[in-house]
Amino acid sequence: MIYAGVDIGSRAAKAVLLQNNTIISSAIRDTGAESVKTSEELLNELLNGTGIKAGEISYTIATGYGRVLVPYANENVSEISAHAKGINWYFPTVRTILDMGGQDCKAINCDGNGNVTNFVMNDKCAGGTGRFLEMIADVLDIPLNEIGTVSLSSNHEIPFNTICAVFAKTEALRHLRKGVSRADILAGLHEAIATRSFNLLKRVSIEADFAITGGISKNSGLVAKIAEKVQMKPQLCDDPQLCGAIGAALFARDKSAHTNRTKMQYGYEDGTGSYFISLDEGLCDGCGKCADVCPAGIFCLVQRDGYKVAEVKQTAIKRLSALCPGFITCRTGNHGVTCKNVCKHNAIEHSW
Ligand code: SF4
Ligand code: SF4
Repeated sequence: MIYAGVDIGSRAAKAVLLQNNTIISSAIRDTGAESVKTSEELLNELLNGTGIKAGEISYTIATGYGRVLVPYANENVSEISAHAKGINWYFPTVRTILDMGGQDCKAINCDGNGNVTNFVMNDKCAGGTGRFLEMIADVLDIPLNEIGTVSLSSNHEIPFNTICAVFAKTEALRHLRKGVSRADILAGLHEAIATRSFNLLKRVSIEADFAITGGISKNSGLVAKIAEKVQMKPQLCDDPQLCGAIGAALFARDKSAHTNRTKMQYGYEDGTGSYFISLDEGLCDGCGKCADVCPAGIFCLVQRDGYKVAEVKQTAIKRLSALCPGFITCRTGNHGVTCKNVCKHNAIEHSW
């Protein structure tokens, strides 16, 4: 089966095709002004030369700022979830992520399955984002992909009091006119961005391992400054820009497996009567609330294809009518709650 992940970011649009846990194709292009058109071009580029037709993609999930503008996506997820999932695919030990995007910056904590456990985001100001560094590279007349290495040759870093896009640009120009080297200006700016990134990270929990994602993580000068502050060597993917798209493709794979799961029916019909509980595993997200509230202890959680789902306990199947008085009686005697009304996906039905 083939799955696609599409990440329409504010500056760059990225996509991957996933088959057998391997990335078989990827594409990156500027997002531009028309996200719908970009996402269609991205798909053509992704399929180009693979011999795969669009109709052969089993499931597509979009993420990123333009995730609702991908007409062929089956659904979408937030870029925070996608980045956590993507980094977990590369480095399962990572628990803290700094995602430095084109127009925002996020600090994320995740668990060993790539689920987000905490995050903070800075999207109020362009300072320290990809857009900001593009502007600085432009002002200093250095190709964007070289500013990292240039900054590493600095021997007298210039302190910057601000990374406000407007003031930093003016300050950089002023230093340049005074004859300060580009390396020293860049080192100073990187120091200011690293300090701000570190402050953002401190608002989540800085736990090992640590990773940086997003296009900015290709900037070796900035990565070195952040590593110094965090006091951990960050894990960096081969192509950090693809991390969100990979996460989206992994969600597509998981979701596809999930929707293929069926409705399970538990219970019996015999001389003593009939009683059935059905659990739609395609809807169940394994939250466990039904098991928590059932006064008769009818439900348990089990792992199925790597997913947690609710199940009726084997020991309860033949005794359902004795254990369960039905929704109405249960609700009255159970402080107004039943398995059915705590299940936000409406995955549980009873019949008798
Ligand atoms: S209705 Fe009440 S007793 Fe019956 S399965 Fe649901 S929570 Fe348990
Ligand atoms: S409450 Fe619903 S979603 Fe949660 S485990 Fe039970 S059946 Fe699944």
